[in-house]
Amino acid sequence: MGRLRTDTQLAIVCVFSTVASLAIGSFAVYRLMQGAVAVALFDAMVVLVMLGGMAYAWKTGRSVMAGNVIASLLTAGLLVVIPVYGLSFLWAFSLMIGIFLMATSRVALLLSVVLIAGIGLAPDNFADPLERTTFFAVAAQVALFSFVFAWRTSRQHRQLDVMANRDPLTHVGNRRALEREISMRAEAARREGEPAGLAVIDLDHFKDVNDRHGHDAGDQVLIDLARIVGDTMRATDSFYRYGGEEFVLVMPGTTPDGISAALDKLQAAIRARLRTADGTPVTVSIGVASLGAKDDPSQWLSRADRRLYAAKAAGRDRICIEPRDPAPAEAQAFS
Ligand code: GH3
Ligand code: MG
Ligand code: MG
Repeated sequence: MGRLRTDTQLAIVCVFSTVASLAIGSFAVYRLMQGAVAVALFDAMVVLVMLGGMAYAWKTGRSVMAGNVIASLLTAGLLVVIPVYGLSFLWAFSLMIGIFLMATSRVALLLSVVLIAGIGLAPDNFADPLERTTFFAVAAQVALFSFVFAWRTSRQHRQLDVMANRDPLTHVGNRRALEREISMRAEAARREGEPAGLAVIDLDHFKDVNDRHGHDAGDQVLIDLARIVGDTMRATDSFYRYGGEEFVLVMPGTTPDGISAALDKLQAAIRARLRTADGTPVTVSIGVASLGAKDDPSQWLSRADRRLYAAKAAGRDRICIEPRDPAPAEAQAFS
């Protein structure tokens, strides 16, 4: 149930599908009692498709796609039902608002154009031309207002998401986003045994960089580091600013060998490209810990952090990976 509170799109798909299923389901029963078996079967099919879409969204988390599919099916369904079973075209208004809530703005706009044209141009829906014109005018307004509302809401949603989860300086994920990623990786390790690596990356002697070149130049180095990591890491890896000049790289589905190779590559890129304004190289120290099915995820970050301290103590500009076997307690440091 917690997911309904955090995933707005899923909540909308569930509420809309449930309400529409109840409404259409009651019609199906009513039609069945009247002996209109074909109509009742059609209604039942629409209900089944909607509940199926809701179940799909719930299981896979792909609620945006489910919303688009359900909205498209309902639009097509209404366009069939109005002429074939003589349903009132007034249902189009309620559906149009639902479409804009459920589907993405562009899909919803397309569907409402199809819906308005389909109903407005059909020969038998209206008593006279005035009624037809009125329908076009009112329906166009409903679509326009719903579109503006949906577009504004989704833009605000995106802005809030950026503000809540991204670091304003480097645009990488912030600490809150990191915590969410760690719990997702912990879940994947526990459920599917999927391994993952976590690297804490701290700039070396960064206080000196600030002191010598100024705070703005220091900021630029942080931005540059985020860009280098973005260019070097795989699409499934994610990068976060943990605080100050300390960053965290999470590498899902990566074995210890893969982690070591990826970080060697990253370190080479940083050595080649990370510079202050006057061309002085800036180096990083990296502490690494991997997460297996048997590890306690709450200790993951602090294990990597301990390796970072070891890398600093061993002279900086190096990667320090947590020993894989419990036997040798000493850090395996290499530069
Ligand atoms: P070490 O190699 O041990 O990590 O040394 P250090 O100087 O990097 O570490 P220390 O923790 O002593 O100093 C961190 C510095 O990072 C101090 C602080 O001014 C700087 N810093 C933290 N956040 C920012 C930021 O957003 N912008 C800039 N320009 N500097 C920052
Ligand atoms: Mg530092
Ligand atoms: Mg630090």
